[in-house]
Amino acid sequence: MITVLSGGTGTPKLLQGIIRLIDPANMTVVVNTLENSYFSGVYVAADLDTVMYTLSGIINEETWYGIAGDTFITHETLKEIGCGELLKIGDQDRAIKIQKTLLLEKNPLSKAVDIQRRKLGIKSRIIPMSDQESQINIITDQGSLEFHQFLIEQKSEPEVLDLNYSSVEPAPGLVDSIEKSDMVIIGPSNPITSVGPILSLEGVRDALKKSYVVAISPIIGNKPVSGPAGKFMNALGHEVSPAGVATVYQDFLDKFYIDLEDDIHQEKIEKLITEVVVTNTNMNNIEDKVMLARSILGEIL
Ligand code: GDP
Repeated sequence: MITVLSGGTGTPKLLQGIIRLIDPANMTVVVNTLENSYFSGVYVAADLDTVMYTLSGIINEETWYGIAGDTFITHETLKEIGCGELLKIGDQDRAIKIQKTLLLEKNPLSKAVDIQRRKLGIKSRIIPMSDQESQINIITDQGSLEFHQFLIEQKSEPEVLDLNYSSVEPAPGLVDSIEKSDMVIIGPSNPITSVGPILSLEGVRDALKKSYVVAISPIIGNKPVSGPAGKFMNALGHEVSPAGVATVYQDFLDKFYIDLEDDIHQEKIEKLITEVVVTNTNMNNIEDKVMLARSILGEIL
């Protein structure tokens, strides 16, 4: 049994490798919900949907959100009739979001996601980090922004000075899943706004200290492979490097995977984390993903 902590881009790539090596029924994925919100009348849980679409094999791998080959008739129609759509949501993707919105009228998010993943034929358990709504405040040189205002309206351009988010309760079964796992994998996701919110849940850091935990650096060289992680790390005083990521996880991490490009950081990180593995962590194709997953799962395969 393994538990994977996930955001919405790097970790799903790794999940594609993992499910080729183990029975997906033996995996639980805990997913960030910090960015969840309503858009054009539907509930958008971006990272959860990315994980669901990845595990059911329908993810659009060019964008890492939405469904491959989707059409955008509803999106175009809404725009034509003057309904400003901040997000470009595909038709099939929207159908799944509508179902989630309807399920949420009578169910907590964790139950809604469980119903949907079963309908999509996913054997792994998917646990949203919380059933409660989070609020995030990104304090920038352009003022205080919510996540989508920063990411989409402002294209992640403003300088980030600080950020904070509300505290929420962990979803049912989350802490238990970490405690009962043979290995917990923190995938290469944004350490501040994807993994950070999961770590901040009551009982999670303590459970991780008692478990065998490995993490993969989302930073290669001195920048993230994609997304705004560097800006957020900088704002909170963490060096934008694998060593900076290690400082976020050092109190519970047993093994840290850094990229071949970053071997110069190995000695410095070994002062923080017992075991450091230098390998290719750039997942450009399925071979890269399986190779990295095999290296991580090695001991339990
Ligand atoms: P985002 O920062 O909001 O996009 O949040 P995510 O949690 O989705 O994080 C994406 C993270 O995945 C970024 O920090 C990327 O650097 C990381 N990432 C994406 N692709 C890869 C990859 O192939 N290898 C590694 N090591 N990291 C990756």
